[in-house]
Amino acid sequence: MSLKDLEELTSNAKQIQDDVLKEILTLNANTEYLHRFLHGSSDKELFKKNVPVVSYDDVKSYIERTANGGEPSDVISGKPITGFFLSSGTSGGKQKIFPINNKFFEDMTFIFALRSQIIFRHIKDVQEGKAITFFFVKPQSTTPSGLPVSNMLTGFLMSDYFKNRPSNRFTSPDEVTLCQENKQAMYCHLLCGLVQRDEVVSLAAAFASSLVGAITFLENYWKEMCSNIRSGHVSEWISDLSCRDSVSIILGGPNSELAELIEEECKKKSWKGIITRLWPKTKFIQTVVTGQNAQYIPILEFYSNKLPLISTAYGSSETIFGVNVNPLCKPEDVSYTFMPTMSYFEFLLADEGNNGEIVDLVNVKLGSYYEPLVTNYSGLHRYRMGDILQVTGFYNSAPQFRFVHRKSAVLSVSVEMTTEEDILKALNHAKLVLKPSHLILMGFTCYADISTHPAHYVFYWELKATNINDTVKLDEKMLVDCCCVMEESFCSLYREFRKKNGSIGALEIRVVAQGTFDSLMEFFISQGASVSQYKTPICINSSEALAVLEKSVIAHFFSDKSPPVGSKIQY
Ligand code: AMP
Repeated sequence: MSLKDLEELTSNAKQIQDDVLKEILTLNANTEYLHRFLHGSSDKELFKKNVPVVSYDDVKSYIERTANGGEPSDVISGKPITGFFLSSGTSGGKQKIFPINNKFFEDMTFIFALRSQIIFRHIKDVQEGKAITFFFVKPQSTTPSGLPVSNMLTGFLMSDYFKNRPSNRFTSPDEVTLCQENKQAMYCHLLCGLVQRDEVVSLAAAFASSLVGAITFLENYWKEMCSNIRSGHVSEWISDLSCRDSVSIILGGPNSELAELIEEECKKKSWKGIITRLWPKTKFIQTVVTGQNAQYIPILEFYSNKLPLISTAYGSSETIFGVNVNPLCKPEDVSYTFMPTMSYFEFLLADEGNNGEIVDLVNVKLGSYYEPLVTNYSGLHRYRMGDILQVTGFYNSAPQFRFVHRKSAVLSVSVEMTTEEDILKALNHAKLVLKPSHLILMGFTCYADISTHPAHYVFYWELKATNINDTVKLDEKMLVDCCCVMEESFCSLYREFRKKNGSIGALEIRVVAQGTFDSLMEFFISQGASVSQYKTPICINSSEALAVLEKSVIAHFFSDKSPPVGSKIQY
């Protein structure tokens, strides 16, 4: 793999996409699913005319039949299915599963190598250094047909593709990455990272929420880690023996000098820049901060003294889409260049007044909004992703997209629609109000409270003082102001309804106790979510999840005026 591949693939996007579709249709021509529409043909025009655009519920029964076994395996895929990915999306309250085969792991291997090459081209002298990589696995389950079911990252990490990777830059031994006890794995990831602090050039996690979780974990465990480093013995509660043995080797023996150095930094009043203080050679943080993970940008900038935050790739359980070829751009400018070999991509226009227009990858228009439709190598055909992307440019002939939002995440209590992007924008305005107060927003989520009249938006906030020893002081006026600026930034329909006919009530912030968002994560994990793929939901619908938040509410604040209607407020 070299950067020449990137040039070649992106220069021949059209031809490659045509070949990909031909290959998939030829492979799948006789599956039960495709035969219904194409009667054995692999013609592109017939595919476009006859094969319907589908959502999960349309293909669920085919996927479940494949998972349950006892039938010919070519229900949906000509190529044998070797496992399933459990996605973070849900259908009817149940997690979705997607069939996969080794092509997915080959694509992941390619993308991992490509994104490293891209980073090496932009950041000098990091090729030889190490990365503290917060990757975790969850125990796999099996389908009735005996195939493994796991989240995407677990599937990859447990495969031979990871085991036989050509180079290894992780500070953690594989025994830690593959330890199924996530708390033990987290402790060991951090301990190994601290011990090898002089070699560390980057920190990495799939999503920013995991990285913030790692620093919070360090806040609670640094004393114990220092004591391990001082004595040269790993804590007894690390009971996974292969994990323990491999970490003991890295620990090497007692090192009181290093323990003191780390203690010195961790006991300082503020944890501002803690990442660069503990790992002084760190040059970047590799983690996704686009989409809903954008909420973690300020806290990561605080912990890292504004090191570059690099969102390297955009992918899902359905397919990998592309990579960020401009890794040092600002987080808000990140675009992903689609890789034409991953799947066959079509795009459903999502602009206002759209008439169901679908275009091929190379025919998308600059500035337009689209929902990708995926035809992959493992049984999905014209599958609606539910993500909304905007075309920002082209790299050779391959389009680049900004991730706008996940379509399903919206708040609405009347006819207004508040998107994920609207919510994040409102939060940014509120953060400006918070700024002088030395409080940081550690976590948030929201829901539409329709039990009140009129119904209203509720935001749960977990706040933390920037100096770790300070307590959180809640200033009533400031928090009421936060409610007001959020309302002011919402769409005109929201403000209209809030004011005139009063069908939307005053926005409320419920401040929750510290640690609440960790409990929320634990709750979702207990329900089957994976640690490495976990993203705090922007909006919550589940009553059990809301109960977790409700029991920790320590204060309520309401907007005290209706927002201006008509003109857009500028900040
Ligand atoms: P999952 O199938 O659980 O891995 O979730 C995939 C979803 O995560 C995608 O459809 C996106 O909504 C979101 N996602 C993945 N990568 C990114 C990214 N780089 N930026 C923003 N959202 C992402």
